[in-house]
Amino acid sequence: MTQLPVLNLSSEATGTTPTGRRATLPPRHLADLDLAGRRAAVTELGEPAFRAQQISTHYFGRLVREPEEMTDLPARTREAITGTLLPRLLTPVSELATDNGTTRKTLWRLHDGALVESVLMGYSDRVTVCVSSQAGCGMACPFCATGQAGLTRNLSTAEIIDQVVWFAGLAARGALPGCPDRLSRIVFMGMGEPLANYNRVIAAVRRLTEPAPEGLGLSQRHITVSTVGLVPAMRRLTQEGLSVTLALSLHAPDDDLRDTLVPVNQRWKVAEVLDAAFEYAARTGRRVSIEYAMIRDVNDHPWRADLLGRLLSGRLAHVNLIPLNPTPGSQWDASPKPVEREFVRRLRAAGVPTTVRDTRGREIDGACGQLAASGGGKVGERESGLLARRANEETQ
Ligand code: SAH
Repeated sequence: MTQLPVLNLSSEATGTTPTGRRATLPPRHLADLDLAGRRAAVTELGEPAFRAQQISTHYFGRLVREPEEMTDLPARTREAITGTLLPRLLTPVSELATDNGTTRKTLWRLHDGALVESVLMGYSDRVTVCVSSQAGCGMACPFCATGQAGLTRNLSTAEIIDQVVWFAGLAARGALPGCPDRLSRIVFMGMGEPLANYNRVIAAVRRLTEPAPEGLGLSQRHITVSTVGLVPAMRRLTQEGLSVTLALSLHAPDDDLRDTLVPVNQRWKVAEVLDAAFEYAARTGRRVSIEYAMIRDVNDHPWRADLLGRLLSGRLAHVNLIPLNPTPGSQWDASPKPVEREFVRRLRAAGVPTTVRDTRGREIDGACGQLAASGGGKVGERESGLLARRANEETQ
């Protein structure tokens, strides 16, 4: 049996990394603040409070961030206002594109050198961005590239939001051929465990869904938060009154195997985590998405499909099977197609709606489980351990 990693679930509370190093917070950004906070910040600069509204409209409404584009701000104070409220949080280090530019992965360097990735997927009817909520991840799932490197730090609210706003600007400028010019969906399926950075992720969801100029004006229903299954945080989310979609990374229907594949299962067992997911579904009326990476000869047995079918039958849930994306150095591979088909057949026979996710972004290491940070230092392409984890989307 694989040796199980030690988990660190307390980093949000302590503000430290697993190594005990104090995490360096990024500079304050308007996306960290509500409109009242932004007004206070411009007033401190000696500017009238309405400037907060103007700069917010530029950022969230027009999707521009360069001072020279803000011609309604007086030239003499433009730099000061943007310097205070729009510090650069994300610096692109590399950008890879495929599918005629409609799938794009960007690697960002944060102010302290930490690295994260986001992936954009454009379709004919929607544009989705897959965002990171942490630099690295402390959940240590052995099949996931991000899980191998450990947690560097939580992202701030604005660092999460800025990934989205950046891509929304790209879409608005018509950079995605054949796709709508409005970014409409967000999946928290990039690097990190969103519910381990709970407060900032929830603040980001709220801001992204408030209308401009307060926020970006997206629909809560078009946001998916994916979790390994941190039960207390799932219960808290249930009480938030949000209508985001919850995705639960289950990957095994039995504790024996899930203890290894998703080590947090040692703390919260399958029955408990499913209960918490069903409570979320009952409270919100929204079907939960059960994520299941299909790993050859590991979790793809017919009896496991049957067991999963029994656990989910009659529930407000659907299964999303993800062909495993092998990560460097892993001995695991995706299940053969006939095995996958049989798994789907058994789940559907049990009355459980089941889809298989497409594998967009594989060639740019932007697919599920492929985002892995090199831990700083020099960054090149995949040889230097670039990155990676996820980015796909469901197909029907
Ligand atoms: N920490 C969160 C969100 C990030 S990952 C979570 O675990 O849910 C998003 C999804 O990609 C999760 O379902 C995760 O288990 C899956 N994933 C990770 N590595 C993968 C891989 N190598 N192949 C396929 N899916 C993977």
